[in-house]
Amino acid sequence: MIIVMKSSATTAQVDHVVARVKSLGFDTHLSVGEERTIIGIIGDERPVDDDAFSLMEGVEKTVRVLTKYKLASRDFHPQNTIVHIGTVAIGGNQVVALAGPCAIESESQIMAAAQAVKKAGASVIRAGAYKPRTSPYSFQGLGEEGLKLLAQARLATELPVVTEVMSSEQVDIVAKYTDAFQIGTRNMQNYNLLCAVGSTDKPVILKRGMMSKLEELLMSAEYILSRGNDQVILCERGIRTFETATRNTLDLSAVPVLKQLSHLPVIVDPSHAAGDWHYVPSLSLAAIAVGADGLLIEVHPDPEHALSDGAQSLTPERFSTLMNNVRAVAAAVGREVA
Ligand code: PEP
Ligand code: MN
Repeated sequence: MIIVMKSSATTAQVDHVVARVKSLGFDTHLSVGEERTIIGIIGDERPVDDDAFSLMEGVEKTVRVLTKYKLASRDFHPQNTIVHIGTVAIGGNQVVALAGPCAIESESQIMAAAQAVKKAGASVIRAGAYKPRTSPYSFQGLGEEGLKLLAQARLATELPVVTEVMSSEQVDIVAKYTDAFQIGTRNMQNYNLLCAVGSTDKPVILKRGMMSKLEELLMSAEYILSRGNDQVILCERGIRTFETATRNTLDLSAVPVLKQLSHLPVIVDPSHAAGDWHYVPSLSLAAIAVGADGLLIEVHPDPEHALSDGAQSLTPERFSTLMNNVRAVAAAVGREVA
């Protein structure tokens, strides 16, 4: 249940309602908007009587939130959340490009990729040091050595970086080098990991499980939010369907649906959805047109020799061309590129 306070409610009235909720054994979550404050009741509030609150001073109304997720829900938090990765704001009017290779392979490779994506207009560098590969015989990433190289690229470009964390044991080491965590599709329901990153103060890009419903994605976001970390970005990266012409099927309808259900920023990863670089530009433009707050794109200086996901990686030149087109589509829908 949420308690919507009147716009004229005083701080003392808000405090009084919060104290009442707590006296019943629940936690509260306060959303202080420009217009009014909304108090969320956290916990199984089925036995709570709405009248207990609707008659209190300063209360406008009480609303039962029917979704299983609360903190991720727009009912709880009507205004858009803006997440900051370094100084880059995601979820506002500017659309943001996060780009880089699938994996960090060497100093020269990550440096070339980072400089190229910066030049083309990316605001955040992405690259993996711990790689969740389908085969145990495939390149697994450089681990901490890779994180150090990523930190070097960060220093050289002055751009913030994001990298995947695969287990709760890795959270501390990854946190040492990164500006934001990425939770991959295979780990969307790794609840220990979600709680571990939820206990940090670094932003989290949460990718949709390849076989997960949007409600399940939002429940996973709820795990992170409920641990106190409110910096969560949702990422649509394609889901498994009967269609095999692309690696996954990019569910573009996820964007407006998630935007309606939640206040969290939504970005799209067309690279892992398509699995083929030819489709990445058009899917990127469509994602911006449908309301995405950003794009997560794989770019490699030499895709032919990439140690992972070369087929879906754009060359720096193709990425640069794409960014020009992204600017045009963003402008057409009343936004701009950061
Ligand atoms: C990645 O971003 O490199 C990655 C492994 O993505 P996903 O988890 O979406 O497959
Ligand atoms: Mn990849």
